[in-house]
Formats: sequence, structure tokens, C-alpha cells
Amino acid sequence: MISIKGLKKKYVVGKADFFALDGVDLEIGDGEFVAITGKSGSGKSTLLNVLGTLDVPTSGSVTVDGADLSALTPKQVAAYRNKTVGFVFQSFYLEQGYSVYDNVELPLLLGGQTGDNSSKVNAALEAVGLSGKAAEKALSLSGGEQQRVAIARAIVNDPDYILADEPCGNLDSVNSNNIMNILCRLHESGKTVVMVTHDAEDAARASRIVTMSDGKVITDEKNL
Ligand code: ADP
Ligand code: MG
Repeated sequence: MISIKGLKKKYVVGKADFFALDGVDLEIGDGEFVAITGKSGSGKSTLLNVLGTLDVPTSGSVTVDGADLSALTPKQVAAYRNKTVGFVFQSFYLEQGYSVYDNVELPLLLGGQTGDNSSKVNAALEAVGLSGKAAEKALSLSGGEQQRVAIARAIVNDPDYILADEPCGNLDSVNSNNIMNILCRLHESGKTVVMVTHDAEDAARASRIVTMSDGKVITDEKNL
């Protein structure tokens, strides 16, 4: 479970304080599929980055499975990013010169799993429908395929939480639908999915829709 309390992120812009997050309180239960939506600049990515320990809040707290993220040691932060959460970004961030297989194996190697990883990597590739492309270089794939590799990379360590920031933002509608189907399947398999999107149709696939504006949560509705 994710518990967010009084979360603020302040930037000093010129002489004024600007709050990208301005007091966010949110609880996300295990197995939920939450879409975080809202206009550009409303703080969605900042919130997701704080959840992923890619950004540090100014005040407030985030507790994941009982652990306060601000109290983690560097080693625990590394383990959290490697095993607890899987991140998916709008721009995929694959190693373009690496094969699909090597991209998906990377988190395992970084986490010290240097043995035979083929069953884990192949299972992750199968989950995104890319078993046949393992040997191809990332740069030879379409955008939709690259995002599926990025999802395979995010799930290869079997994290409980998938954090996706505009995962369909660079994709056409057919590929977006493929990605949304994969995220829905991961949710059905028991993962907790938190997806940032400004697309109402994509948000409508989630089971809960949280809307942000000016760094605050303005609506929070079940979508069953
Ligand atoms: P969203 O993902 O909803 O579009 P973001 O979380 O990326 O919004 O950004 C929220 C606000 O914080 C935006 O107004 C953005 O300009 C501002 N912001 C983000 N990073 C910085 C920074 N390093 N310095 C100043 N303002 C920033
Ligand atoms: Mg954003």
C-alpha cells in the first residue's frame, strides 16, 4: 500500500515560491489501477517521480508497504527502484544499441542477478507479446514495440508496483491500445498500477481516476 501525506514540492522561481506539489494526500491500496490525470504542469510527473524515488519532496511523506521512503538508506533506495517498483516512461529510454533481450535483462544484472536469467527475461517478453523479437536491436523496433520492451524491463523483477508516466504519450491509437491492454492485464494479474495520463480514454481504463490541478488532488473517483 502507498500512503501519501501532506506532500509538497517547492521550487523557487525568481523571488517567489512555486509548489509543483501543494499538499497531496492519497492512499493507493494493493491491486488498484489508478490513473492520475490533469492538465500539463499540474504536478502529475512530480508526484510519480517522488513515488519512484526519482525526486525528493520538500515536505510530507510517502510510505510504501510501511516503509517511509525518506528514511531509506541508499542501498534500500536502490533495492526499492530495482525490485519494488517498475518504471515506464513516455520516451521508453531503451539502450538503443542493445538487443531486446539485453534491455530486459539489464535490471536483473544491475540487481546482482548474474546467473542464467533466460526464464525471467523470456517470461517478461512473453507478457508483452515480444518473444519473437528477443535478438533484435532496440533501434530496429517501432515506438509501440519499444514501449512494450520498456514494460517487459519494468516487470522482469516482478515488482508489486508499476509506475507509468504517459506510457502512450508518444504512440498512435493502435499502439496506445496495445499498451493499455498490457497494463490492464498486469493489473488483473495483481499488480498495483499508477499511470499518469492526460488522455481521458486511457484514464477511463483504470479503476480509479485521480485528477490534479496546481499541485493538488481536486477529484478522486472510482471508475468500476
Ligand atoms: P505534469 O507532469 O502534470 O505536466 P510536472 O509535475 O512535470 O507536471 O510539473 C509541475 C510543475 O512544476 C510545472 O509547472 C513545472 O513547470 C514545474 N517544475 C518542474 N520542474 C521544475 C524545476 N526544476 N524548476 C521549476 N519548476 C519546475
Ligand atoms: Mg508530466
